[in-house]
Amino acid sequence: MSRYTSMEHLRFLLFEIHGVQDLFAYDYFSHLDNEQVAMMIDAAKALADRDMYPYFKEMDEQPVHYAGKGVVWSHPQLRTIILNAAAQSWIGGESSFDLGGLQLPQMVYNAAHHIFQAANNGTQGYISLTTGAARLIQNYGSPEQISTFVPPMFEGRWQGTMALTEPQAGSSLTDITTVATPTDAGYYQIKGQKIFISAGEHSACDNFVHLTLARIAGAPPGLKGVSLFIIPKHRPVTGGELEYNDVFCAGDYQKLGQRAYATTHLVFGEQDDCRGWLVGEPNKGLSYMFQLMNEARIGVGQTAASVSMAAYQASLQYARERSQGRKVGEKDPLKPPVPIIQHPDVQRMLLTQKSIVEGALSLAMECNRLADLAHVAEGAEQRRNWLLLEILTPIVKTYSAEQGNRSTSLAIQVLGGYGYTMDFPVQQYYRDLRIMAIYEGTTGIQSLDLLGRKMTMENGEALIQLAQYMGITISAAAAHPALQEHAAILQSELDRFGKTLQQLVKYAQAGEMERYLADASVFMEMAGYVVIAWQWLKMAVAAQKALDSGDFSAQSKSFYEGKVHTMKFFFRYELPHAAACAKILLEPGQLTMLEEDGLLD
Ligand SMILES: Cc1cc2nc3c(=O)[nH]c(=O)nc-3n(C[C@H](O)[C@H](O)[C@H](O)COP(=O)(O)OP(=O)(O)OC[C@H]3O[C@@H](n4cnc5c(N)ncnc54)[C@H](O)[C@@H]3O)c2cc1C
Repeated sequence: MSRYTSMEHLRFLLFEIHGVQDLFAYDYFSHLDNEQVAMMIDAAKALADRDMYPYFKEMDEQPVHYAGKGVVWSHPQLRTIILNAAAQSWIGGESSFDLGGLQLPQMVYNAAHHIFQAANNGTQGYISLTTGAARLIQNYGSPEQISTFVPPMFEGRWQGTMALTEPQAGSSLTDITTVATPTDAGYYQIKGQKIFISAGEHSACDNFVHLTLARIAGAPPGLKGVSLFIIPKHRPVTGGELEYNDVFCAGDYQKLGQRAYATTHLVFGEQDDCRGWLVGEPNKGLSYMFQLMNEARIGVGQTAASVSMAAYQASLQYARERSQGRKVGEKDPLKPPVPIIQHPDVQRMLLTQKSIVEGALSLAMECNRLADLAHVAEGAEQRRNWLLLEILTPIVKTYSAEQGNRSTSLAIQVLGGYGYTMDFPVQQYYRDLRIMAIYEGTTGIQSLDLLGRKMTMENGEALIQLAQYMGITISAAAAHPALQEHAAILQSELDRFGKTLQQLVKYAQAGEMERYLADASVFMEMAGYVVIAWQWLKMAVAAQKALDSGDFSAQSKSFYEGKVHTMKFFFRYELPHAAACAKILLEPGQLTMLEEDGLLD
């Protein structure tokens, strides 16, 4: 079987960089130890090796599709995958003991899910969507809603979804029109349509629990009038039976990638008999949904890193096996050709991928850790972790998706012509990954969130916290003679970043909001380079420490040398782009606020 991820890198992140073991000091996680975590991750790998990866190509070639009359066909293996993942607690494992879970840290849950994402990303989403939807019910639902819906979701029998998008309300959820009319019986009568709903219908689950945003009849316009509802496809009735709830799948979307993952069009209440149950309080739906959306954004970022990881591994293996050409300077045509991995340009493409993929995965793991700490810590520590998570979430989502596109494209390039053929998996990774910059909020929307909200939230407190947090790594690196130069570079890039923001904020202070936000995506790009450089320095500090001490009990010497080398590569080849972003952002004379779109003809 080909290698689709690096378990060494995953363990390095878990135990040496982000210290999952530190969490065990908190009561909530005190039942865990390193050995248990390592065993669970190995079990997840075995499951992915057996149930997921062998079907990756086949499920792309036999995609989910609409079979008529509300039925969506999915590959028979999907049911096995969902049920076996559920049995290993990879749906409900994060929940507390009293709610049937194992009180696993998000770090551990997502370490397993990284393996699933790299093995067969089109199937992993079914599992994590159910986790997210179930947790939303647990956090904001009534005890009755929890006991009715969550157990079958944890067992993998019922699929959870998040149903936000409507034909006229994609990026702009303000414009949601699905309507919920209260009834005397306690439920709401639902009418409306949702499009692009992932896992909204397929043949691997018996029921579907749609966590749906709708507007209670008469609610105020805009986001303040949006409520959250549970709308099952089949509603439970007394005696434990289920009856059809007038949720009809009108079709599916055939897509460029993720062809194993159903994307559906749902119609609620065509026969005026669709019932929904309000979750929490009226008109607070969006704030509740944000919990799921934030987790999903980190999840999409991590998936992008995982898919690019699989593409990197495939191209690395190919580069070692494929012979072509000779070293520059070798004039004898009778000498055998060398493996292409010996050519500097191929090494450049591989190092670029490694630096993007491993850096992005490290940032995702950082976010998982912050989410765990925000959950168990208290007081000022909890607030600090929450702020850091807020600011890093749009960055991990966007960096991984955008640079993942570049990285998987380079994986194809390493294979040359074969990379473009269906005989090798890199084209599938490339196709699968393309969606990551679109769903869960496009790059444009994430960038507006970062510059328009996160950078200035609580008087810039989140950014101050991030700068201080990065400062810890910079100080640690400055203490190693081998890393001092890179510590100084990161500090100066961080300063440049802060100064760029200060300049931009002047537009906002002058009331020129459109100008302030016009190049938010460029600002996001800059943030990505700086934050990933920080992750690389963090990894280099740990690696250098191991190299200095000669302790190679956890990983090999060359593994650690590879980390330091890739950090240097990232700082030399990738990080300088941050300065170019700053130049674009600060240049007078804005080019992207055209009054005449005829200029684009
Ligand atoms: C495969 C797939 C799965 C999906 N799964 C789900 C799901 O499970 N649940 C769900 O609810 N939705 C889902 N979606 C919907 C997805 O979240 C939306 O497609 C996405 O948010 C973008 O909305 P849109 O397609 O309407 O594009 P639009 O909103 O029309 O955006 C088009 C372009 O305009 C830009 N743009 C829009 N508004 C602004 C603005 N104010 N400022 C700057 N630029 C702007 C965008 O960045 C984008 O580049 C899925 C979509 C796909 C394709």
